[in-house]
Amino acid sequence: MTSVKSLPVYSCGHEHLRDAYDRADDHSQTLSWAATSLPCSECCRASLKNLDLSPQVYVNLQQLSPGMAAFVIEVSEVVQPLDGVLHLTGYSHRAASKDELHPGGDAFDVPGAVWRKEYWFANETEPMHVVALLRHLKQEMRWLETYLPDGELAVHFADFVPPK
Ligand SMILES: [Zn+2]
Repeated sequence: MTSVKSLPVYSCGHEHLRDAYDRADDHSQTLSWAATSLPCSECCRASLKNLDLSPQVYVNLQQLSPGMAAFVIEVSEVVQPLDGVLHLTGYSHRAASKDELHPGGDAFDVPGAVWRKEYWFANETEPMHVVALLRHLKQEMRWLETYLPDGELAVHFADFVPPK
């Protein structure tokens, strides 16, 4: 157990919940610190609810080049301040992917664009390392779902953004 001296404090003035912070792994704690210039997850969730929006998260595996695959996270229906949170934590604005072999391209003015993050690994990566990466990604989803009105129900594994 590591004892925490200070907790992330967000632009809305709220402090990260100690319990949630203590349960998070190093990766998720880093994500929390990265987004402190914006409102906390509770305030983001409330503002999305007010707008009647319910961003959904799709996590899947894609073949991105002959030798490389990636776990890909895509988040739909994102408005501010969630777009800022995603931007600060390594996501970029892209077109939605169609399936395992057709990643989305540049966003430009594509309707239904998403925020995407990719975790690449070589095809010959040892399975135990791929499993570790997947665990890392699940931790990131436990962090991200705190921002979403639908919480963990908004996170879909092995699925893609439904076509509009
Ligand atoms: Zn707040």
